[in-house]
Amino acid sequence: KLSQRLQYIMEQIPAGSRLADIGSDHGLLPVAAVRSGRVPQAVAGEVNDGPLRAAQKQVAEAGLTDRIAVRKGDGLAVIKANEVDVITIAGMGGALIASILEQGKDKLVSVKQLVLQPNVGEDILRRWLIEHQWVLTSEHIMEEDGKIYEILTAVPDSVSPLKQDELYQPWKLPDSSLVLTQDLLMQLGPLLVKAPNEIFFYKWKLEIRKLEDVLAQVARSDQESAQHKREQLRKQIEQLEEVLACLP
Ligand code: SAM
Repeated sequence: KLSQRLQYIMEQIPAGSRLADIGSDHGLLPVAAVRSGRVPQAVAGEVNDGPLRAAQKQVAEAGLTDRIAVRKGDGLAVIKANEVDVITIAGMGGALIASILEQGKDKLVSVKQLVLQPNVGEDILRRWLIEHQWVLTSEHIMEEDGKIYEILTAVPDSVSPLKQDELYQPWKLPDSSLVLTQDLLMQLGPLLVKAPNEIFFYKWKLEIRKLEDVLAQVARSDQESAQHKREQLRKQIEQLEEVLACLP
């Protein structure tokens, strides 16, 4: 059975799409997507031998070797031009996902949708999307087994009903003088912040606590550079607290 996280990612894939799951590990996502009839065929990409073998085994045991191609390679190198409609990349850092997309840019030309689940560094990934004309159509935050996950879905700017500029337009919070800058929107998520759920608040309270821990450590240092860092941290904490207090 799929985890709720992978299940949610799978449900973002439009029915009938040709899928590539990059960094597929055990190949659970493409197997479930093909088995359920959601997608007719898939590519499972893996750069490491252990996970590659695990994916090959999974696909063989599911009897889907004719529909799922398990390929070894770095990032999008495993797909051919025009081969897939949707790419999923989950369970890695946002910086790694962004670098996989950057290095495989030529393969993205025909891709209609990206479903991405960065473990950390969501802001780095949002920035990459913005800079490469991909527009977020959905952002979802969820908790499973004590971990918090964000799942970002994006489509090319040319087909998106909403444009990047509108999405990242500095946003004045209702009933407050506070304006969320583009930087803050990248961190918090432009769609998440407009419809925050309990998990969103939980995540950002945890983040504030982490920043406070760092601040406490820096406070013990009397180096000159520490003063600047303290100021920066205090400002960051204050800003986040203010935002959380003002969100609907
Ligand atoms: N996508 C699965 C999920 O979300 O459950 C597996 C996530 S697992 C933590 C990350 C996988 O990405 C590992 O199996 C790793 O070998 C693979 N990986 C890391 N860098 C990669 C790259 N540049 N290209 C392909 N796979 C990569």
